[in-house]
Amino acid sequence: MKKKILILQTGGTIGMMASQNSQGALKPMLKGQDFLKIVPELSKMAKVSTLLIDNIDSANVTPRHWIKWLGELKKKYKDFDGFVVTHGTDSMVYTCSAFSFALENISKPIVFTGSQRPLGLIRSDGPMNLINSVETAIRGPLGVTLCFGNKLLRGVRATKLSATDYVAFESFNEAPLATMGVDYESHWVDEKNKSRQPQWKSVFNEKVFCFKIFPGISGEILLSTIRAKSCEGIVLEAYGSGNVPNLDSSVLAMIKEARKLSKPVVIASQCPHGRVSLEKYECGIEALNNGAISGGDMTREACVVKLMHGLGRGLRDRNLKQYFLKNICQERSY
Ligand code: ASP
Repeated sequence: MKKKILILQTGGTIGMMASQNSQGALKPMLKGQDFLKIVPELSKMAKVSTLLIDNIDSANVTPRHWIKWLGELKKKYKDFDGFVVTHGTDSMVYTCSAFSFALENISKPIVFTGSQRPLGLIRSDGPMNLINSVETAIRGPLGVTLCFGNKLLRGVRATKLSATDYVAFESFNEAPLATMGVDYESHWVDEKNKSRQPQWKSVFNEKVFCFKIFPGISGEILLSTIRAKSCEGIVLEAYGSGNVPNLDSSVLAMIKEARKLSKPVVIASQCPHGRVSLEKYECGIEALNNGAISGGDMTREACVVKLMHGLGRGLRDRNLKQYFLKNICQERSY
C-alpha cells in the first residue's frame, strides 16, 4: 500500500516567482497543489497531500514561526507516515535544529527541502529535491533530516554552504545519511523502536546573541551586550579549537561578567570542520575556567538554537551547562 506523505509548505525559493511590483525580485507565490502539478511523479510515489502553513522568504523566520509550524505538524502527526517540509534555504538549518531539539523521540521521518532556483523555471533543482525528499519520507530515517542536492544530511548537523550551487548544504562533522545518484544509497542504521512516543518541547527563548571574534574586537561592545536585559546568553564564534584572546581583557572580561550574571556563554568555532577543545591552548582554557561552555563539534547554527531551547526550557547555570554538553539528537559527538 502506498504511504501517506504530507508536504508542509513554509515558503522559500522553491515556491517563488518573479513579481512585477518589486522590480522582478523573487517573491513566494506557488501553493502546495502547484508542486503536485509541476512534479506529477510525486503522486505516483505516495499518497501525497499538501498543506500551506506559511509562504515566506526564510530570511523572515523567527522562533515564533517554529512554534507555529511545530503546532501544525503535531495536529497532523498521527495521520501521515512521513513529512516533507519545504523551506527557504537561507535559514533552513536553523529550523531543522529547532525541530530536532523540540521533537524528542520522534518516530517518523521529517525531511526538509527547498531549491536554489524556483520550481516553475526550466533547470530548477526543485523537482529532484522534492522527489528525493518524498522518497526519504517513505523510507525513513526517523527524525529531522535535510535532503538537498542529491544528499541526505542530518538536519541538526547541516550548514548552508553555497548561495548558487545546487549542492547547497554540507555536514562537515558527519557523513551524509544517504546519497542519490542512479541509485538511492542509504547509510543510516534503521532504528528498532518505531513505536516510541514523541515529546513536543516547542519552547525557545529568543534573548540570545551571537558574536564572531576577530582581531581587535571591542570589549566594550561585548560587555554592554552581556549586561543588556535583552541578552540572556551568548554564542561566541571563536578561532579554531575555541581560542579567544587572553593578552587583553576584551573577551575574558565579558565571560567573567556573564558568569556573575548567570548568563551562559557557549563557544563555537569559526571553522565548520573539527571541534572545540578548550583545554588545548591557554587561550581556550581561560575561557573554560571562567565558565564558558564548549560547543564541541556542533554547528554554529545548532549552538544558537540549542541555547535558545535550553533557556526556553527554563534551564540555568549548572543545569543549562549539563543540557548543552549532552548529546540530545545526534548534534554532537564530543
Ligand atoms: N531567500 C530564499 C529563502 O531562504 C532563498 C532560498 O530559498 O534559496 O527563502
